[in-house]
Amino acid sequence: MPADRNSTKRRRDLIFTIENYGAIMVSKCSFCKAHSRVCKVHISSGKCSECWKQGSKCDVAVTRNEFSRLVSEKKKLEAQMLEARKEQDAAFEALRVARAKEERLSKQLAQNEKRAGEVIAVESAALMELEEDPVQPAWPAGPAELSTSVWSAMNDLPPEFWDNSVTLPS
Ligand SMILES: [Zn+2]
Ligand SMILES: [Zn+2]
Repeated sequence: MPADRNSTKRRRDLIFTIENYGAIMVSKCSFCKAHSRVCKVHISSGKCSECWKQGSKCDVAVTRNEFSRLVSEKKKLEAQMLEARKEQDAAFEALRVARAKEERLSKQLAQNEKRAGEVIAVESAALMELEEDPVQPAWPAGPAELSTSVWSAMNDLPPEFWDNSVTLPS
């Protein structure tokens, strides 16, 4: 009878599919429990694959809470996976921010060092000028009171110093 053979083939295909896509039940149906079979059911199949093979009624439906357990576990795992992805995104963002911060601080440090160099150069020049300035009050009042060491120090001054001092207010 072709119709029956077709039905048998379809049933075999269904069993094959349930075995591939189905979940192993912790609480087996009566048949699988009695015959120590692996009770595999797909949420849509109604019967376990073993009961489809035997053509017997399957009471796995009474363990329907197992489906909801599987579904809630699936949802929980998906939520955890989403959480793990968010954590990765946050970690990457934190890394990006930290790198940008380091780069900014590095530039600021370079500017700070450059500025310190400028300040040192300006202040050094200013102090040298102060120490070399003969009109400072700390200096002796007239040439007659200058010690030989001061005279010799003045001799060491560059010629342009004297040119500048001419224009200075007394
Ligand atoms: Zn079963
Ligand atoms: Zn069964």
